Amino acid sequence: MVQRLCIIGVGLIGGSLARALKTAGAVGEVIGHGRDTAQLQLALELGVIDRAETDLAAALRGADVVVVAVPVGAMEGVFRAMAPHLGDDTIVTDVGSTKGSVVAAAERAFGAVPPRFVPGHPIAGTERSGVAASFAELYHKRRVILTPLPHTDAAAVATVRGLWQTAGAEVVEMEVQHHDEVLAATSHLPHVLAYTLVDTLARMEEHTEIFRFAAGGFRDFTRIASSDPRMWHDICLANRDAILKVLDRYSADLAAVRSAVEHGDGARLLHTFGRAKKARDEFKQ
Ligand code: NAP
Repeated sequence: MVQRLCIIGVGLIGGSLARALKTAGAVGEVIGHGRDTAQLQLALELGVIDRAETDLAAALRGADVVVVAVPVGAMEGVFRAMAPHLGDDTIVTDVGSTKGSVVAAAERAFGAVPPRFVPGHPIAGTERSGVAASFAELYHKRRVILTPLPHTDAAAVATVRGLWQTAGAEVVEMEVQHHDEVLAATSHLPHVLAYTLVDTLARMEEHTEIFRFAAGGFRDFTRIASSDPRMWHDICLANRDAILKVLDRYSADLAAVRSAVEHGDGARLLHTFGRAKKARDEFKQ
């Protein structure tokens, strides 16, 4: 049970965590902090938070746990603003999609990464944004990755782990760099591909025809291109090296498929598509 929980950035991810913890009766009071008063008012009306604060010092006062749920490019500014107002015992965690950049931002903003700062990332989300899109079940049976550093306080990790478990998630721990490499491949690359594919098709002269006759496959593959462009801009800049590595690998594989199509190399196409189908079928089970 956390008596006072402060959510900074009450959008899809922060709002859904607040809802889940309130539904479970695991929090005393939830304070929401943001810049947009209309969004905070909506969060109050939806019962996502109990109190709205646009003043950061007031939001942090007496908080046991602070969840920073803003875009990764905004983390450092938020950490800097938080630094003078943080209580000694306050546990801070974040939900950013990249972890190396967030840890570096915390180091710069606080002087050193505080022992009670527990970097985290829920592997759950939708293509929608804002508190209106939040829902209590978002984390049910989903994974949350925590990337504590060697000096991170074990009790703080246990508290954050407990919050996510209460929200229905399975919590795993990983090293920061490993997290960023794995997520570059499984999440960041697919988003880059989806955005690029839709953009390419949208700029073709026959784009109206193309979208009119788009079927389920197109819909499945490109749903994530409806995600917030600003959020994915931040992620691409924050996880540059890992994304470039996997993007180069994918580009080389795509070039090989292009060459097979060009040269009528059916055996190569069958081999590649068959190997992919096998891997995808195994993943489904
Ligand atoms: P969201 O719905 O747009 O919410 C983001 C919140 O951050 C908003 O409430 C906004 O509140 C605040 N914010 C936006 N820009 C800011 C800025 N420049 N400075 C300070 N606050 C700012 O986004 P989200 O999907 O919840 O994403 C939040 C975090 O979760 C991101 O770090 C993202 O990488 C991570 N994440 C997202 C997903 C996903 O699928 N969406 C999954 C896992 C992790 P105000 O405008 O009122 O300040």
